[in-house]
Amino acid sequence: MGSSRFFTLKEARLSNNCPECYSNDSLELTFKQKLSENIFYKAITADIKSQMQCHNCNTQIFPIRWTDDIERVVDYQKRAVQPKPKSFKLKPLAWAFIAFDLLLLVGIILFATGIVSFK
Ligand SMILES: [Zn+2]
Repeated sequence: MGSSRFFTLKEARLSNNCPECYSNDSLELTFKQKLSENIFYKAITADIKSQMQCHNCNTQIFPIRWTDDIERVVDYQKRAVQPKPKSFKLKPLAWAFIAFDLLLLVGIILFATGIVSFK
């Protein structure tokens, strides 16, 4: 019932040569940040991943294929990325549960202390 997905933080076009097709204007680096969500809450995590794609040969370029030049550029881009601050938000359903629990607790206390009774 929970899910996590990544949303795009930043996309950068690189002028490096593609290690696969050697095109020099088709590499794109994408930074994504992780978001976890279920019916009770939505949270932005500090988890960031990067992905490189060549739009000329339509290949995903994995770090193992990166040249020193590409690594340098990725490092540089990484430093320039501004991640969204971590956040945690409860959804209305969670608040409804909390409110219900509180009411239940208050009810139990009122009965237990004899303030309210069914006589
Ligand atoms: Zn390519």
